[in-house]
Formats: sequence, C-alpha cells, structure tokens
Amino acid sequence: MALPTFDPDRFSAALVRQWQRFGLPDAQEMSPDQWWHALSGALAELLADIPVQPAAGGQRHVNYLSMEFLLGRLTGNNLLNLGWYDGVKATLAAAGVTLSDVLERETDPALGNGGLGRLAACFLDAMATTGQPAIGYGLNYQYGLFRQHFVGGAQHEQPDDWQRDRYPWFRHNAALDVQVGLGGSVTSIDGVTHWQPAFVVQGEAWDLPVVGFRNGITQPLRLWQAKHARPFDLQRFNNGDFLRAEQQGIEAEKLTKVLYPNDNHQAGKKLRLMQQYFQCACTLADILRRHQATGRAIETLADYEVIQLNDTHPTLAIPELLRLLLDEHRLSWQDAWRITQRTFAYTNHTLMPEALECWNLRLVRSLLPRHVMIINTLNAQLKQQVEARWPGNQAIWSKLALVHDQQLRMANLCVIGSFAVNGVAALHSRLVVQDLFPEYHALWPEKFHNVTNGITPRRWINQCNPALAALINKTLQRPWLNDLDALQDLSPFADDAAFRAEYRAIKQHNKQALTEWIAARTGIAVQPDALFDVQIKRLHEYKRQHLMLLHMIALWQTLVSDPQANLAPRVMLFGAKAAPGYALAKNIIYAINKVAETINHDARVGDRLKIVFIPDYNVSVAERLIPAADLSEQISTAGKEASGTGNMKLALNGALTIGTLDGANVEIAQQVGEENIFIFGHTVEQVSALKQAGYSPLNWRSKDAQLDRALTALEDGTFSNGDRTAFSDLVNSLGAQGGDPYLVLADFRHYLNAQQQVEALWADPEAWTRAAILNTARCGMFSADRAIRDYQQRIWQASR
Ligand SMILES: *Cc1c(COP(=O)(O)O)cnc(C)c1O
Repeated sequence: MALPTFDPDRFSAALVRQWQRFGLPDAQEMSPDQWWHALSGALAELLADIPVQPAAGGQRHVNYLSMEFLLGRLTGNNLLNLGWYDGVKATLAAAGVTLSDVLERETDPALGNGGLGRLAACFLDAMATTGQPAIGYGLNYQYGLFRQHFVGGAQHEQPDDWQRDRYPWFRHNAALDVQVGLGGSVTSIDGVTHWQPAFVVQGEAWDLPVVGFRNGITQPLRLWQAKHARPFDLQRFNNGDFLRAEQQGIEAEKLTKVLYPNDNHQAGKKLRLMQQYFQCACTLADILRRHQATGRAIETLADYEVIQLNDTHPTLAIPELLRLLLDEHRLSWQDAWRITQRTFAYTNHTLMPEALECWNLRLVRSLLPRHVMIINTLNAQLKQQVEARWPGNQAIWSKLALVHDQQLRMANLCVIGSFAVNGVAALHSRLVVQDLFPEYHALWPEKFHNVTNGITPRRWINQCNPALAALINKTLQRPWLNDLDALQDLSPFADDAAFRAEYRAIKQHNKQALTEWIAARTGIAVQPDALFDVQIKRLHEYKRQHLMLLHMIALWQTLVSDPQANLAPRVMLFGAKAAPGYALAKNIIYAINKVAETINHDARVGDRLKIVFIPDYNVSVAERLIPAADLSEQISTAGKEASGTGNMKLALNGALTIGTLDGANVEIAQQVGEENIFIFGHTVEQVSALKQAGYSPLNWRSKDAQLDRALTALEDGTFSNGDRTAFSDLVNSLGAQGGDPYLVLADFRHYLNAQQQVEALWADPEAWTRAAILNTARCGMFSADRAIRDYQQRIWQASR
C-alpha cells in the first residue's frame, strides 16, 4: 500500500473548504474549537480517499465485536500514525496557530468503561498496523462514560454529551443501514419457521477511520446508531395503528443513548439486552452483506470471516447467525451449526461471578422468541453430549447447561458456539481452564488458548511521551514502534551513565509538566522531585485502591509521630471512576479524598506527602499521568485481575511496578526480572488456602498494630470532623461484617514491606533509573501487535 505523503496544498485546500462551511470570511476568524473541527474535518476528507485494505490472500477477515471502544482523542493520534504531524504543525504555525493547543480542544470519545474497551481500541490500531484486515463493530452512544467531579470529596456524575452528531471523524454511510426486529412471535408455516417481530428499529452505520502506523492502511470502526424505523407491519399501519408504530419508532432512539457505566458487574437491565441484540443484529447483517457482495456462497462464510467476541456482551451474535442461516438462508441445522461454530471465537475477561452475564430467559424470550427456540435446541444438543460423557451426573449438567434456573448463561453459550476460547494473560487463561470451565476443557481441550493482552505503543509511547520516543529513536536508529521487541537493544544502555541521565531528565521533564497541569486542574501544589506513586484504573474493591489508602494513612501517622522518619517525599496520585450504583466504591473515593484533605493541609507533613485524586479519569488524563509515573500500583487480589493493561503502559514508560502475582503482572515480572519489580502478597494458591481455612480479617487486624491504627483513624472521625460513620461502608467491608473478601488486611504487611524496598531503591537514583530503563527495554512483548499476531497464529488462521 502506498504511503500517503503529506501534501500541504491539498491539506490547505481541504482546510479552506472547512472554514468556508462555517460561513467565515477567512481562517483567522476561527475559534480554537473551530480550528479543531476544521483540522479534523479536513483530515477525514483526505483520509476518505485512502482505500480500505483488501483481505490479503489466505487471511480470514476479522470482525471485532465489542460493546465498548474507549478510543481517546483521534486527531493527534491519526496525525502521528499518518506521519503528517510535523507537516500539519508547520501549516498551522504559518497561520499563527499552535497544533498542540488545537488538539487539546478534542473531547475524548469515551465509549467504554475501562480496560476492556481500551483493549478493543488498542487492537484496532494494531490490526491496521500489522495489516490484519478487520472491522471493529460497536455502538455509537450519544452519551459516553459519565463525567466525574467531586463535591466535598464525594463523586458526582454528569452526562458525557460528547457531541457525536458534530464529530468530524464520522462518516455515515446510508447504504449500510439495516433493520432490526424485536419482540413479536414465531410461526411455523409449511415447516418453515418464521419470526414476526413486533417492531423494527433502524440501525445506521457510523464509521470512524482506524489509521495504521505509516503503512497507508485505514480500516473502519463501524458504530451502530439506533434511529426511528418505518413501521414493521404495513397492514396494521394502514389499518390506523399508525400512532403505536410511530411511538415505537421514537423509542428506538433510546437504544444507543447511553453507555452502561458498569465495569466487571452486570445489572441485568432490559434496555441493555436490547442494546446487545441491536449491535449483534446490525453487525451480522453487515458481515453477511459483505460476504455475499463478493459472490461467495453462504456455506463458505467461515473460510473468509471470523467473529471475535470481546467478552460475552455480544453473545447474541451466535444465535443470530444461526437464525439467519436457518430461517433466511434455509440451511440445515447441521450445516448452520457447523458454520457458526467455525466462525466465532470468544475472549473471556473475568472469572468473578457478579460479572458473568446471565439473562432471565423470560426477558430474552419477550424480545427474541426465535432466538430462545434456537438456544433451547442447543441446550438439548449439549445435554446429550454431557450425558454421553458423564452419564447421570446432575451436578455437572447443572454447571454446563446453557439455561439453568430460568437464567441464560452467556459464557456457556460462547464456549459452545465458538471454535476458540481465550483468556487474556497466562495466569488468567490457566484459571479459565481450572476454575471456570474445567468440564468444557475436558470435552474440548483444543478450544482453549491464551493470548496475553497488549497495548499500542503508538498512543502509549509515541503520542503520550514524545521525549521518550525521541530518545529511543536516537538510540536505536531503526523502526521500533511497529516492532517493539527492538526495545531490547536499549538494555545495555541501562549501564551507561550518560544515557541514564538523559532518561531521568525526560522523566523529570514529564513530572514537571504534570505538576503544572495538576496545579491548574486541582489547585494542589506538588514537588516534581517527589516519588510519583500512581494508581489509575476503575474503582473496584478487587483492585484495592483501599490498600493504597491504608498505606497513605500509615505513612501520615509515621510522619506525625516521628518527624525524623527517613521517608522519601511522595505524591500519591489516583484516577478512578466508580459505577454510579456501586456505593462501596464511591465510599472509597470519598475516603481517599477526605484523608487527602487532612494530610495535604497538615503543616507537620508539608511536602513529604501529598495526595491528588485527579477528577474525571479518562484516556487523555492517562496520557498525562503515565509518562510522569515513578511507581505503578498494580495491587489487585491475586486471581481477580484478568490481565490489566495499565500495568503495561506504565512499565513501558519507565514506572516500576509494585504488584501482586496477578494478571499480566506475572509476565511483566518474568520479562523485567524480579530485581526490577516489587512483588508482594498472597498468591492465587495462598488466597484460596486462606479462604478455605476460614479467613478472618479481625485476626489480621489484631496482630498488626500499624494496620489497627490506620483503620482506627478511619473509624474515629479523624478525617471526617468527628463523624464516625463517614466511611462505615468501607470499614465494615474490611471487618467481621463484610469479611474482607479481597484480603486487603491479609496483604497489608507484605505491601508495606514492599513499599520499604521501594524507598530503598528510590534512595539510589542511579539504581532506580537503571531498573526503569530495563522496564522500558524488556516490555516489548506487551505491544498489541504481538497480541494480534498471537490471535492470528493461535486462533484466526489456525483452525480453518
Ligand atoms: C488502560 C486504561 C484502563 C485499564 O487500566 P487497568 O489498570 O488495566 O485496569 C482503564 N482506563 C483507561 C482510561 C485506560 O487508559
């Protein structure tokens, strides 16, 4: 593919067309927001001329289905991937405009909650970069993840109206619009089953371009938007039932109004199920349309297309494909099932029971009566297989059934309907087999795989840390952003004092920039030479922000009781949103903010400890924090974090990890070497042994005076003007009542010991920098490009 070189004349002409569209007499009249719109609109126009990569010979086309794509800003990233950044910067500079200021005007498209949606975004970038033909399929939410701000330390939410209707990167292709049925009934006429939906919603295809890294490839991310539909039943329409049909049409637009704000938790709402089906039905119609447009027979679908399910949210695509093959294409059950099973692959993202999706069968039937018939047939077929393998074993059947207690289990349906099932880190994939699906594994061992997650170095080094990227360019003198293993060649430089000085200066420069941004955003002054101790991720008990909170209190108590204590100045930085309905998570945020308020104003402490909770954590905030982090907090309860990707971003940018043996931390430790990471805490096996033996948090509290003092300060009103109930949700969860399900107290002492090792290494800046360089040098395997190649080799191209 020809690399599109930057053509200043074409770009300038496109820019003129943009501001003329605003009705302005010349470019100088544009506001900063208009500059961003004009720039992005002009680029989108030029990009539309770059052809979509055709499927390379023998490669299956990938359809990546995800309810969430947490993209972050597009314009700057696209400029960098195109290689047009400097050209555009110069053109704008000639007009007296600073490109980086213009790029700051973009509102993040935040169409995802956290790691799962961000992974999908990284994978799109990596597929375009590695030349894997692919389309991402998702939903075009009018409101993305809520905006967070703090009122008296408590989280408040506001809708995130990101102005999708004015987003210049979108292209709506009306030729791709589809109709989606819902509700109604199923009839059988002459042996042919026919679903007569009660109403029909129109799905519009809104495409965003995904730009490969300097390879001339752009591929679409296709986001479906629900719109008013024509009445389904024309006869009823003519009979005067016009009003009802109209009303249903108006309701349709609700479907893609809002992203559900839950992460690792299922709420079971009807509208959510409708969103899921809407996405699946639109996507399947599009995939089959494309397949048939090539003139290929429907029977060959799986030879050309693979559908990767990002968690179980798009599970309904499985019975939807079966329905289309059976009812529309009139294939036999055997043929339809064989094609379906060869088309789907499923990525599991969690083992936690509250996050494993189940849907009430009656609810599903009310919306999708034909799909439930198909699911029942699948369930009966499965029962025969299970019965053949484990005759009369009711216990096993009740685990494996698709439908149990009137609940439809999406993960089971995914395993049955897919040719491949993967976990997202080595440890997690092992637990998927051992703890979640041991019987399925016994039936079909060859289905199960690991693909450790990855991140795109284009956004997470090149865009967010240009100074580090420049140092790597200068040092390696060869391409590395699409060949991240090349970073290995930095290793020898860890022993080069001059290189260390340069590397450290970059970190210091990034910390200085963050310091200024924090002051502007929060009014809090921090010292850029303090240790920047960073925990950024969704707020969830299993991630244990409250373990870091206990350390914060313990440090403060030490500093107050022993002013001579030999502790490095530290800035603790948090970024995290709590699901609006997750009361305990919100109480943890409140506690961190109230403790921060007390400590930040304590003159006895001064600059030795500062705490900043950055409001409204999102991709753009992550891009500022990650390059400036010294210490990366990855402290989840072992066995609970499937992979983590924040851990990878931070390690590549030279933050040392303090973490448990959980998710991809295990592999990070293997890569960087145990002397360059701070590992602590109970292992997966120790966690289950502890629980087996009857874990009692009170015992752990009573034998650790420092832990008891920290908890007592939360209970006795120290941080809440004497209010002893301010943090009772949090404190109760860690006591006899809550039982401390995530073993915060059991890991407290190990964690503090590991923090002392952090202190010791920090005291030796040369040794610390050496370890940081080795983290950058040795984490090349966490490129999303490697993850995509693993998917290709182990899954997409392997079992054809
Ligand atoms: C990477 C990323 C995440 C995932 O972080 P984890 O620490 O892996 O949970 C969540 N949110 C944003 C904005 C991210 O960039």
